[in-house]
Amino acid sequence: MEIFDSHVDTPSQLIRLRDPGIDNGYGHVDFPKLRRGGVGGSFFALYTPAEMEPDAATRYALEMLSAVYDSIDKYPDMVSLARSPEEVAKNRENGLVSIFLGMENGSPIQESLSLLRLFFRMGIRYVTLTHNGDNALADSAAEGKRWHGLSPFGKKALAEMNALGMMVDLSHASDETFWDCIRLFDAPIIASHSCCRSLCPHRRNLTDDMLKALGDKDGYVGINFYPAFLSERFLSDPADAALFEEGEKVEADFIACPSDPSRVQAWNEMQVRLRSLWRPGVREIVDHIDHAVELAGIDHVGIGSDFDGILVPPEGLEDVSMMGKIFDEMRRRGYSETEVSQVAGANLLAVMRRIQG
Ligand SMILES: [Zn+2]
Repeated sequence: MEIFDSHVDTPSQLIRLRDPGIDNGYGHVDFPKLRRGGVGGSFFALYTPAEMEPDAATRYALEMLSAVYDSIDKYPDMVSLARSPEEVAKNRENGLVSIFLGMENGSPIQESLSLLRLFFRMGIRYVTLTHNGDNALADSAAEGKRWHGLSPFGKKALAEMNALGMMVDLSHASDETFWDCIRLFDAPIIASHSCCRSLCPHRRNLTDDMLKALGDKDGYVGINFYPAFLSERFLSDPADAALFEEGEKVEADFIACPSDPSRVQAWNEMQVRLRSLWRPGVREIVDHIDHAVELAGIDHVGIGSDFDGILVPPEGLEDVSMMGKIFDEMRRRGYSETEVSQVAGANLLAVMRRIQG
């Protein structure tokens, strides 16, 4: 059985000077951990903050892309780029973990279909239309005020993505954006890293109707591991919330200057403290898998860990090497071996095949 993860934020860590070829102390993802966890491939998302102006976002996305390419070139005995399920098969034969590319927040595309095509040529296989801000393509779950769904350019971009065989990713999108995409386009749609709103009422989790619609469209949802999307109980204690807020400040300082050894040390010390918080774990993740399977169907659910993009990982699943625990829990709950391997990764490759044609 091979695991395929539809969303990690490791490119953001690469530009914070992480060496992905070694086992990093508090990192969630690096090449040794991917191999140890039995991960066959992982979507490395090029994330740009919503506040960034479009030109700056394009530049930043290109710099992250370059960092991913550099890392792959530096460790050719561990990983290789993959743009299709066929390339995954070739990488597997060569004993290599596949690195897929996604783009989180469509800002770097600006309002240019030629930039969109260029990013596709450079290997990017999905675009998460927004992050936590409305942009030129669509409205975000965090705002949702600019277009009330897709923008006129967003509609053109989606038609182009469908023609290219590029996946449209609705994690972070507003409900109106989600329903516009379902209404206006026939192609399967994905939510690369989202959880279920009826289990945890976060604005960017998917409602039952959305899960059903993703299944009906032959699409895909990758369940997110971020504690705040898994359980309302996370940070419900004010002392926990205060520590988390302190953690966000330490992280911001580290991001501003990742080469400063004192900030790196402060970040590492904060990681130890954050792990003392009450956090949901494997059981809650599988609860969300169960619910998504019930609504969307067993062919349409997978894993979108969000590792390296979350301030604190779930309890007992501190990094990607521990991913197998989820599938052990699924087996305990009575899923067949075929069903487990579908959720572990086969469904993600299958939706790529359906969209790439
Ligand atoms: Zn995200």
